[in-house]
Amino acid sequence: MTSRNLSASMSEGAIEDEAHELVSHRRNRRMRSPRVAVVGIGSMGSMALWQLAKAGIDVVGFEQYGLAHERSAAGGESRMFRTAYMEGADYVPLLKTSRRLWQELEAETGQNLLTLNGALMIGPREDPRIANVIRSVEDFEIDHVVLDRAETMARYPQHRLEDGEISVLDREGGVIRPELAVLTAAERAAALGATIHDHTQVEAIDEKPAGVQITAGGKVHEFDKVIVTAGPWTARVFPQFSAHLVSKKIVMTWYLSDRLHEYTPDAFPAFGRVGGEIQTFGIPSLEGTMTKIGSVNTFGDVVLPEQLHRDVDLAELDAINREVARCHPGLRTTPSRVSVHMDAYTSDEHALVGPVPGSSQVFVLGGYSGHGFKMAPVMGEIAKDLAMSGSTSHSIGHLSPARFSA
Ligand SMILES: Cc1cc2nc3c(=O)[nH]c(=O)nc-3n(C[C@H](O)[C@H](O)[C@H](O)COP(=O)(O)OP(=O)(O)OC[C@H]3O[C@@H](n4cnc5c(N)ncnc54)[C@H](O)[C@@H]3O)c2cc1C
Repeated sequence: MTSRNLSASMSEGAIEDEAHELVSHRRNRRMRSPRVAVVGIGSMGSMALWQLAKAGIDVVGFEQYGLAHERSAAGGESRMFRTAYMEGADYVPLLKTSRRLWQELEAETGQNLLTLNGALMIGPREDPRIANVIRSVEDFEIDHVVLDRAETMARYPQHRLEDGEISVLDREGGVIRPELAVLTAAERAAALGATIHDHTQVEAIDEKPAGVQITAGGKVHEFDKVIVTAGPWTARVFPQFSAHLVSKKIVMTWYLSDRLHEYTPDAFPAFGRVGGEIQTFGIPSLEGTMTKIGSVNTFGDVVLPEQLHRDVDLAELDAINREVARCHPGLRTTPSRVSVHMDAYTSDEHALVGPVPGSSQVFVLGGYSGHGFKMAPVMGEIAKDLAMSGSTSHSIGHLSPARFSA
């Protein structure tokens, strides 16, 4: 694998300073389990650190900004967790494991990260994404209820449905707190022995015949395995994927309501909806003021993630405002809060998870295409498996990076 110089190169003096550390590290390598680096401590990286540290692995994480910073794909206060999966029933076993691991992280830390108040999937009965939801609940015995249009509106007056639309309540779904989750996993990893270098950008990853050198913050470190969880920056680390991997701008919108009590977690499950002018999703009011109704639409490519353009043209919000007016009685029809984020998207909107083609030492987990957060804990477990043995028993064939290597 060729050297990837991600930004400025290190000074000659710094190279000499690191020489002794590298020599003694090589001498000691055969004596211990692999030494692993995690590049990027965001959604996936924090969980990889937690899982690796828990397995007793010597793991070092690098994060270019502060932990749980607002520029990563984890920003925006809330994420939907669902197991009845519009994107394909292949994901259900991963999601069930993830749910167990979310609860395990909560139990280990005492933090409240996942509220299991259900997730409601809405759309025309014949829509292929609703067919995926039905297949998920039937094939994998997900606790669920299927409701027709009238039943849905009677039970959930916060939604207005059209003729022919149904809903499926996924009782195993709910809402996650993303920034707190990243911080909790990283701090738990540190308590279990992980080393964390925050505000430290990885500038180069150099694969050698036995081991991988990482240059970060002007210093060289040597590892046996490297897990790259760089989110919107993944294509910069691996330009070989750039024909199939691009970062996109995502805009979140929150709406006030005259009937706020109807939009609290006990009354209003998170929802995903297809079949309208645009695909939407919603999260109950966690802090008791506003309800997040977002569009899965993206707002253009982000060429340089650190220069994400955070302004939103009002006209760009017309479609989401129209959907709110059409579907959600009781919500105001213009947002009171707007925030701008990004995520890395692959051309088929399934992530890249596995060894980088041509390497057995460097692994990529990226390109989660706007739906990865719920999977972060199981991705941490997969990262741990890959670093320890090069493979995993989890079913990730559909996420293989090799599908884009040609
Ligand atoms: C607004 C929004 C709403 C979403 N809603 C949902 C939802 O409801 N449910 C759901 O499941 N998913 C949702 N998603 C998708 C999900 O949040 C993302 O797929 C997921 O967070 C991606 O995680 P990641 O680890 O790949 O990236 P990130 O969380 O961005 O982590 C990447 C980290 O790597 C760091 N980094 C990058 N390069 C370097 C380097 N060279 N050196 C050191 N550090 C580096 C970055 O600073 C960052 O902290 C949503 C995404 C967005 C943006």
